[in-house]
Amino acid sequence: MDWVDLRSDTVTRPTLAMRAAMAAAEVGDDVYGEDPTVNALQRRLADELGFEDALFVPSGTQSNLLALMSHCERGDEYLVGMDAHTYRFEGGGAAVLGSIQPQPVAHDVDGTLPLDRLAAAIKPVDPHFARTRLLALENTWHGRVLPPDYLRAAHDFARGRGLSLHLDGARLYNAAVAGGVSVRAIAQHFDSVSVCLSKGLGAPVGSVLVGSAPLIDKARRWRKVAGGGWRQAGILAAAGLHALDHHVARLADDHARAARLAEGLRDMPGVELLGQHTNMVFVGVPAERLYELDAHMQAARIRISIGYLPTLRLVTHLDIDDDGVQRTLEAFARFFAC
Ligand SMILES: *Cc1c(COP(=O)(O)O)cnc(C)c1O
Repeated sequence: MDWVDLRSDTVTRPTLAMRAAMAAAEVGDDVYGEDPTVNALQRRLADELGFEDALFVPSGTQSNLLALMSHCERGDEYLVGMDAHTYRFEGGGAAVLGSIQPQPVAHDVDGTLPLDRLAAAIKPVDPHFARTRLLALENTWHGRVLPPDYLRAAHDFARGRGLSLHLDGARLYNAAVAGGVSVRAIAQHFDSVSVCLSKGLGAPVGSVLVGSAPLIDKARRWRKVAGGGWRQAGILAAAGLHALDHHVARLADDHARAARLAEGLRDMPGVELLGQHTNMVFVGVPAERLYELDAHMQAARIRISIGYLPTLRLVTHLDIDDDGVQRTLEAFARFFAC
């Protein structure tokens, strides 16, 4: 029996068709800008999101870091959600490697950073303070799609305050598919956007940063400094192009399966359904039974992440089919029946 791995949408493995596209990729040395497949991927995403240029990088963490280091100088500051990936889950890279001070701001439950809270966090122009330069948002945030009106308001706010605006769009395509809008409609509000190919889109490796040509030039330099200058990366870019061709519309299936999972867990005794947003389901289970639940699930060949204690996050993706959803619901039901 195959594993049903609900820990994250990063766990997908390349399909046979994707592997065939990778094997057939034309390649060159990307540090010289000579990999045709990397160039095609960068061009495609720049055009699709409505930007001048793009840069293919190994990870979303590096993509966000390069964006921050390209927007900000040493001693600058960026405003960021207290529970944003960039602030919490990237090892403090902006501070460690960029000498950029984060100013975390508390999220509202919908993932937005209220503009009055942001305004209060901006520092006066004065030698006592870091220079507030950038606002970084995340969409989707814990699966939640940021409201389009908020994006517009955040854009106007940033413009009015002379801040640049970066989007951690690791799951931008989930947001677009769920919201029934183009990725460009979301990206248009930002000065740079980072997109992960290795999450729901199902590529094995890679993220792309898009922005203006001067910004991407800076990011390319920082990528080299960070050790991310890679060579025949077209093999990986081919996986990304394949994902963009074949794995975007199907994100709706992941969202539908997450909804089905949530529906099945809603009235299950012992489980508290906390919410379902795009491809993520959040449930509360009794903390004292968590390890027992984990062992029970493993025995049924189901992987769940219990790292978010005591909330479970179940994530659907390319490698979770209807049968996987069914098996998961049955395993939960068996566990909580006794
Ligand atoms: C996964 C993720 C990243 C970073 O991606 P890696 O490729 O794992 O470094 C950034 N932001 C968000 C919201 C993510 O979920």
